[in-house]
Amino acid sequence: MVRVSPASDGPSRPDGAPYPVVRDEDEWQAALTPLEYHVLREAGTEAPFVGEYTDTKAEGVYRCRACQAELFRSDAKFDSHCGWPSFYAPLAQDSVVYVEDHSLGRVRTEVRCASCGGHLGHVFEGEGYGTPTDLRYCINSISMTLEPHDRQES
Ligand SMILES: [Zn+2]
Repeated sequence: MVRVSPASDGPSRPDGAPYPVVRDEDEWQAALTPLEYHVLREAGTEAPFVGEYTDTKAEGVYRCRACQAELFRSDAKFDSHCGWPSFYAPLAQDSVVYVEDHSLGRVRTEVRCASCGGHLGHVFEGEGYGTPTDLRYCINSISMTLEPHDRQES
């Protein structure tokens, strides 16, 4: 089975537009740790309940660990108890792009960074979490870096 991943899909978004941030895979490999590379470029998944932001409540903006684009805000993060950081919406509609993922024998929707194409996680719908969107963006901690708000910022 062909594994679809950012590394294999090349420099174009699902809509055909180029990603603003494009690097060769060997450049990504040099810029990221092996585990970061595995998740962000090879669409890997970190183990549940071990990610650094799984239960983080700190306020701030979560940026892409590969390209630093802003992806999610802490105010859309919620307790899903699924083992990964969960958000009910991205920071902006154009912060992320979506790719159909057939890798587990069922269709899931993969979420990628709209700037560099890095794999972030998946989005699930209709699980009844009672969030404003009924969506759960299930995101790998290792795909993101939390930038905490300064004290004076709202
Ligand atoms: Zn990115």
